Amino acid sequence: MEKVIFIKYGELSTKKENINFFLNKLKENISFALRGMKVKIDYDLGRMFIHTEDSFDEILSKVTKVFGIHEINVGYLILGNDILEVGEEIKKLLLDYDFRTFKVESKRSNKIIEKTSVELSKEMGAFILKNVPNKKVLVNNPDLVINIEYRVGNTLVYFEKIKGLGGYPVGTLGKGLLMLSGGIDSPVSGFMSIKRGVKIEAVYFESPPHTSREAKDKVIKLARKLAVYNNDIVLHIVNFTDIQEAIYKNIPHEYLITIMRRMMYRISAIIAGRRNCKILINGESIGQVASQTLTSMRAINEVVRIPVIRPLACFDKLDIIDIAKKIDTYETSILPFEDCCTIFVPKHPVINPSIEKCLEYEKLIPYEELIYKSVKEHEIMKIEAEEKNEFAELL
Ligand code: ATP
Ligand code: MG
Repeated sequence: MEKVIFIKYGELSTKKENINFFLNKLKENISFALRGMKVKIDYDLGRMFIHTEDSFDEILSKVTKVFGIHEINVGYLILGNDILEVGEEIKKLLLDYDFRTFKVESKRSNKIIEKTSVELSKEMGAFILKNVPNKKVLVNNPDLVINIEYRVGNTLVYFEKIKGLGGYPVGTLGKGLLMLSGGIDSPVSGFMSIKRGVKIEAVYFESPPHTSREAKDKVIKLARKLAVYNNDIVLHIVNFTDIQEAIYKNIPHEYLITIMRRMMYRISAIIAGRRNCKILINGESIGQVASQTLTSMRAINEVVRIPVIRPLACFDKLDIIDIAKKIDTYETSILPFEDCCTIFVPKHPVINPSIEKCLEYEKLIPYEELIYKSVKEHEIMKIEAEEKNEFAELL
């Protein structure tokens, strides 16, 4: 009998012809999450197994952060499907469990077995009642559920289920470029896109000296938190100062934000094209601020052809905050360092900008030249996932 960690796929199982592509990627992503540990991973169309002599707890804490997993279990692999032999092994395992009532749930993926799952469960239930003293079967809400899967060549027994993150393995849907600010929304948008299998790169616009080194560090820290789910992350840092100053000096202030965001979109689209990112992703949410009215979104979106995905478009802020707390980006996002948008905020930003006016005002600055320069000179950083502080629990 071998103690193993194994994985159920959930939504992935619905991928028919492509399933091996998804499972291969999942295996690759799990191997990456567990790099440095001694593990062997194999899979069939029903389950993926992690064989190891390393710490199960450490593996579980890492695997629970990998997308594309419906459920994670710690189980026991027993050779063959003989009920009596399986029963003897279960009897030994039950010594570690303190329970009075139980039920047996059986699955039979080895179709050679003629008995139905219900018959198999009854038979094992009877075996346990006979061989383990003082136990009782209870169908609704027992102390312990004994799950048994009769597979081709072996039988899998397990008692507990851990919920996985769901979604698709990162990378299976290609790449997207996340516009990552230091705010609450964009990291959450990034997380949600990674969950759908999109491997993200991120772009951050900074305006030194109007924005500080701390603001940049905060974005790097957020990227590092997202990297946990994304394997690692490429962060593009674009110097936006010249563009922002040119806008500030030459364009009526009510249009500052609209034009500034049009420039951000243009630059992001160019970087996305160069990096083979098929979509832009951002944290815009309908109605949240003046630049996120429907008219504003149309006036801003108009400058690019690449699809712009807004995972939070229809979310309430409080729900976004809940997710930010769950994925541990909230505390970093609320650190009080000025972002380039917050510094150049006009008193009365236009709520219904006209595209004609945007085009007219943009003629007042040599924006193509400025964009070219900022893209050419932008900094590219590769950011590794945040390392867990191993001593944190001891302190
Ligand atoms: P908050 O959580 O406070 O709303 P935010 O980052 O969402 O912060 P918004 O002004 O609402 O700020 O910006 C909308 C979106 O535009 C952001 O979610 C982000 O995707 C993008 N964005 C804004 N500022 C920047 C920036 N400096 N660099 C990169 N992307 C940015
Ligand atoms: Mg926002």
